[in-house]
Amino acid sequence: MGQALSSGDGGGGSQHKMMGVFGLAQKGELKMLKCEIKMDPSLLYQTCLYHRQSLLHIAAIYGQIHVLTWLLDQSMKPDVLNRNKQTPLMLAAMHGKISCVEKLLHAGANILMFDSLRGRTCLHYAAYYGHSDCLQAILSSARTSHVALSWGFTRFVNIRDGKGETPLHLAARQRRADCVHILLDNGALVCASTGGYGYAGSTPLHLAARGGSLDCIRELLAWGADRLQRDASGRIPYTVALKHKHGACAALLNPLSAEPLVWPSPLKFISELNPDAKLLLERALLEANREREKSILKGTAYSIESLSQSDSGDDDDTISEASDTEVCCICFDQVCTIEVQDCTHRMCAHCTLALCCHNKPNPTTASINPPVCPFCRSNISHLVVAKLNSEMDDIDNNSPKLRLTRRSWNCHEGSSSFKGLSTLGKMGGRGSGRISLDELIDKPSE
Ligand SMILES: [Zn+2]
Ligand SMILES: [Zn+2]
Repeated sequence: MGQALSSGDGGGGSQHKMMGVFGLAQKGELKMLKCEIKMDPSLLYQTCLYHRQSLLHIAAIYGQIHVLTWLLDQSMKPDVLNRNKQTPLMLAAMHGKISCVEKLLHAGANILMFDSLRGRTCLHYAAYYGHSDCLQAILSSARTSHVALSWGFTRFVNIRDGKGETPLHLAARQRRADCVHILLDNGALVCASTGGYGYAGSTPLHLAARGGSLDCIRELLAWGADRLQRDASGRIPYTVALKHKHGACAALLNPLSAEPLVWPSPLKFISELNPDAKLLLERALLEANREREKSILKGTAYSIESLSQSDSGDDDDTISEASDTEVCCICFDQVCTIEVQDCTHRMCAHCTLALCCHNKPNPTTASINPPVCPFCRSNISHLVVAKLNSEMDDIDNNSPKLRLTRRSWNCHEGSSSFKGLSTLGKMGGRGSGRISLDELIDKPSE
């Protein structure tokens, strides 16, 4: 690189020099880059030959955050465009360089720019390439930026590219289940059609069927994606999955197979859940739907291979916690993890979810009857995570747990003190030879 810079043959020399600063930006050689630009300040605004990338683009692509920060400090505009009208933010989102994405957003980069290739925004890029952290950063920025005011946040989440594809379409097609989840959670329309304006087109479910990602299909179905919606060729997602030989996907998409539980997003208290409670309910939904999937796939040659290990680990946690927490009074199976605020009644996440999904919300009617607490019939207005009462138990003598513990301790005492008696009874030829503990404990008091 140094040799190239010192070669002084007119035009060729300056081109080498340009290659030099781009190489330095790419490698993050900030010190040397500063020297070069100090000698020739015009280099700051040079673009490379083919794609007309600026130094800022290069720094964004390679995640050179120090270079990028310095360039922005030199009052370089964050929204400089390359030949394809791509901004540095789009390229950082494309390559998953989260620190550069954050820095550019902080520097006021415009999230509502469209490239000239496919008319895509930075949100499309993050979704297409599956960089969920970048996607989340852009969405957080959109919530607080002028875009939310002028455009509306939901409109931004559902922004279309030149082919009518929303970021959700791209994430579904590229098998980016994490991004699919984040987008749906932020208000992406699950049944958006690439046709637009009422014309038939592909839904995210059609594209997920084509991509063959069970995880994406699972997410979309759990958000109420319609298995019967037809694309421009009149095909339902099931047909698309069959055509692309994604058998397991097709089994779930088959309109004849059992419908999955749908996340009750229209319920006000569901949209207001705190992150912990939300996570519990989302997990319950996933588990409930996996049970359904198992029975659907049982009849086919497919099994659920994507049952992740972390989930089975979580199950173990629940079991170990079960010993010192309340068991749900509805199913007598799971631990109470969700509490209805105000009346403080508790139940497990599975039962809470079943309660919320019972009145399946109809997207065409605005009225959704919120569920009531199954114990006191009061309206549910807020759900929180039920706190484990291990500390309180020590103080509260009337807690069921402590009573249980004391009783078992008594039994233990009794059994050891009257061991001899039990043998005595046996020797005395008493029936079966086994004396119940109650009998033994009662005797001394007689
Ligand atoms: Zn339960
Ligand atoms: Zn209640």
